[in-house]
Amino acid sequence: MPYTSPVAETRFLLDKVLGYDRLAQTDLFAEAGADVTDAILTEVGRLCDEVLAPLNRGGDLTPAKLENGVVRSSPGFKDGYKAIAEGGWVGLSASPEHGGMGLPLTLNTAVFEMMAGACLSLQLCPLLSQGQIEALDHHASDTLKALYLPKLISGEWTGTMNLTEPQAGSDVGALRTKAEDNGDGSYAITGQKIFITWGDHDVAENVCHLVLARLPDGAPGTRGISLFMVPKLIPDAAGNPGERNSLRVVSLEHKLGIHGSPTCVMSFEGAQGWMVGKPNGGMAAMFTMMNNARLGVGAQGIGVAEAAYQHALAYAKDRKQGRTPLGDGAIIDHADVRRMLAVMKAEIFAARAIALDCGMAIDMAKATGKDSWNARAALLTPIAKAQGTDIGCEVASLGVQIHGGMGFIEETGAAQYLRDARITPIYEGTNGIQAMDLVGRKMMDGGEAAFRLLQEVEDTAEAARAKAPELAHKVWDAAETLREATEWLVAQDPGDRNAGATAFLRAFARILGAHYHLKAALADPDGPRARLATVFIDRILPEHESLLVQARAGAEQLYALSAEDLESA
Ligand SMILES: Cc1cc2nc3c(=O)[nH]c(=O)nc-3n(C[C@H](O)[C@H](O)[C@H](O)COP(=O)(O)OP(=O)(O)OC[C@H]3O[C@@H](n4cnc5c(N)ncnc54)[C@H](O)[C@@H]3O)c2cc1C
Repeated sequence: MPYTSPVAETRFLLDKVLGYDRLAQTDLFAEAGADVTDAILTEVGRLCDEVLAPLNRGGDLTPAKLENGVVRSSPGFKDGYKAIAEGGWVGLSASPEHGGMGLPLTLNTAVFEMMAGACLSLQLCPLLSQGQIEALDHHASDTLKALYLPKLISGEWTGTMNLTEPQAGSDVGALRTKAEDNGDGSYAITGQKIFITWGDHDVAENVCHLVLARLPDGAPGTRGISLFMVPKLIPDAAGNPGERNSLRVVSLEHKLGIHGSPTCVMSFEGAQGWMVGKPNGGMAAMFTMMNNARLGVGAQGIGVAEAAYQHALAYAKDRKQGRTPLGDGAIIDHADVRRMLAVMKAEIFAARAIALDCGMAIDMAKATGKDSWNARAALLTPIAKAQGTDIGCEVASLGVQIHGGMGFIEETGAAQYLRDARITPIYEGTNGIQAMDLVGRKMMDGGEAAFRLLQEVEDTAEAARAKAPELAHKVWDAAETLREATEWLVAQDPGDRNAGATAFLRAFARILGAHYHLKAALADPDGPRARLATVFIDRILPEHESLLVQARAGAEQLYALSAEDLESA
């Protein structure tokens, strides 16, 4: 399906809204100047538009299949993956010590958003490898690093993450997979994992599974979980893939969307694995992978939203129905269709800004070692994941709506975006879990990081009062309302916080979105960005008020409605 990577839009956001040039002023990211960033975005844009996007429909129509125990990927995916690996894209932000480019995660997030817009099913494969690279870099022994990182970074091998079991989904601590010491530095891993993305395939030479399992003396719950590298083909000391490990794909899931991404039930049958990190330290190590992947999944939602928007815009410019206020033109001139397109574009801008700002905070934390950047990154990660993926579904649904009846017909392709996007609020920690993370762990500082961010929003609004007084006034007021709600929230018990968590996260995203739109309006006062900012701030931002009422409503009313009440008429 035709797709044009949002290169200019990304550049605008990085340069005019997010202060991306601060990264190139650090020693760590001195290479990430304007020229390199331009070259990377242009080059990956070409790959996405010309090589990956043409694979998207085929992946939907011809899913990956399991043949004689081996997964065969969708048509063209092997070549598509090869192009990603050979372009060096898997190792864009990986450490140069093992062959990566060492560029900022912010840039990587933009690159992977474009790949997701072009072909989400295929993009998942290198995205998982990236998370694994990060986890190994932080937690693995030097021997494991030397053996696996160069191959993963070059894309010759790919990575997976194996957490989920039938009884252990959001409750990872309920897992039963066992790890027993072989006495030779390795462990025997036994158990079944479900829903393992790209758990097997034919696009690369080896599949490296990071598996969570429990040692015989491991405590119940998450405290007793350890992490293991379990390769499909066991490498020799020189890194050549050798003997087949005792693991197999039992079956592939039949899914609502992302048909081109093989989702495997995996059986580990005494498979040989090597511990990553410390005994019982598996969750900490896996969190490195999950945090990276959470931002990546947020960007997936944004990528699909962008693709759905482009598709809907093209249709709205072409389809004619009735007289519009502007004459006999196409449906784009009907107010309601114009509204839908404006909302889609404004939502994508806001969510993309949140995701890239989260990337900036992670990079600045790495480059400066300052705790304040770490706290900002931690606060923004659940918002970036949940908001990016929620708007992925909402924008894709509006895309179907703009197509009218044709949107419901598979041939137009609008429905595929909606089906594909639907998984993103579920995996990598459901959005409900993200919201609880925001109001729980991320507020353990008494709301300090949140207040710092809100101060920044208010400072932007103050600075904008002369040039854009109406917009500035609304943004400042909204930030103040959120500040009061945050003060209330941090004084509540976990039950009340959790009952309002989703609404609170959404309200936070609304205020952040308005902040970035306001900055864009200041950078382009007479242009389209100022007009788009007006749409967001006038039409979308006001939702924060009702959301914050919900956020403060508490748990009591929810539990007053009993399970029996839910069953009665
Ligand atoms: C296509 C696909 C690909 C996937 N890829 C991978 C992969 O590569 N590796 C991997 O390990 N897993 C993978 N998963 C699993 C995925 O991460 C889980 O499905 C997800 O974490 C949710 O777990 P669950 O399905 O068991 O849902 P449940 O945990 O049963 O959740 C059901 C509902 O209850 C809510 N809920 C659960 N617990 C709580 C709580 N404490 N408080 C409030 N609400 C709660 C949830 O938010 C959700 O709405 C994949 C899943 C799919 C469908």
